[in-house]
Amino acid sequence: PQILVRPNLALWVTKDHQIYQKEEPYPVCPPGQCLIHVKATGICGSEIHFWKSGRIGDCCVTHDIILGHESAGQIVEIGEGVQGFSVGDRVSIEPGVSCWECEQCLRGRYNLCPKVKFSGTPPSDGTMRRFVAHPARFLHKIPDTMTYAVGALIEPLSVAYNAVTRASPYLGQPVLIAGAGPIGLAMALCARSAGCHPICITDLEDNRLAQARSMGFQQTLKIDLGWDRFETARQVRRVMGEGCAPSLAFECTGAESSINSAIYALEDGGTLLQVGCGKPDIAVPLMSMGFREVNIVTSFRYRLSWPVVIRLVNAGIFGDVTGLITHTFPIEQTIEAFETCADRSKLAIKVQIVDE
Ligand code: NAD
Ligand code: ZN
Repeated sequence: PQILVRPNLALWVTKDHQIYQKEEPYPVCPPGQCLIHVKATGICGSEIHFWKSGRIGDCCVTHDIILGHESAGQIVEIGEGVQGFSVGDRVSIEPGVSCWECEQCLRGRYNLCPKVKFSGTPPSDGTMRRFVAHPARFLHKIPDTMTYAVGALIEPLSVAYNAVTRASPYLGQPVLIAGAGPIGLAMALCARSAGCHPICITDLEDNRLAQARSMGFQQTLKIDLGWDRFETARQVRRVMGEGCAPSLAFECTGAESSINSAIYALEDGGTLLQVGCGKPDIAVPLMSMGFREVNIVTSFRYRLSWPVVIRLVNAGIFGDVTGLITHTFPIEQTIEAFETCADRSKLAIKVQIVDE
């Protein structure tokens, strides 16, 4: 078929903060894997970090790698021993390939597998190329009615789904969502579907709060970094309304000031669900939290989320998830897509790279 002769363009990042696109050989399809023609890939903030800073925490770019972990595409080849998939199937890629042998994997907490190979995170190559091989176990069919662009959103929505699952909110629970980036907004969609109400969303940037409002979240608060944490907490409670202090906060910025404000905005006995990643050591008022029985729960990536998130999105449970996507570029313009994502003045939220 003609598809096989199209160049396998891949997006690489170097340890000295460069990105470049280079044609790769057409991949072989190993046993147990499927070869996918990638049709849509979202750019994640972490990829801008790997590009601009060369690291996230202890995870360093030590040699050139291919980025990408938010992808959907079509199967073009089936490896030996693969069952349940056919050429032509439309799939969303779950990027964390865990070992399926260690104790965490066997217990079902496979997002904590110490041997996980995560697409596009050093030292593993990712999905930002026209053709990629991926283990069939971590491929999930999407319905014909779901676009590849939405198939690629299953990844950030899975982050939100995992956090909601960890929080088990109740119907009518007042919730604060700190940060209105792609993760905060995905979080808002997920929390609303889970029955949380009211939902207050904060950010530093007007365009992101405007995006939140256009998605139906009217209670937004623009944070002034001149406010101390007590003032920010008061402002959150004001926006949420009388009697609706949040008892759950999904923190989606990783910023120390935001985490502290969320802790003080919470009502006594509330829970901080930490999703955002910041510097490794962050000061929190642990003793004051202790006197108020404020809990901290963390959430790392996702497990067993793809089938259920695909089902929920397809049933329209989250509403229109395409509101997260603000920019789309063809694969040949991947570099421009990255520059747009990194340039705050471009007001991007989710930037996707697509291919026919
Ligand atoms: P992003 O940078 O696009 O969004 C963060 C938003 O927070 C921005 O809009 C920014 O303006 C806002 N912000 C920054 N400081 C703030 C403050 N003090 N108060 C209010 N808002 C503030 O990032 P994203 O892609 O939306 O991801 C959000 C966070 O989630 C990141 O830290 C990311 O690393 C993390 N993350 C965690 C997981 C996980 O498994 N736990 C998975 C993916 C991403
Ligand atoms: Zn494992």
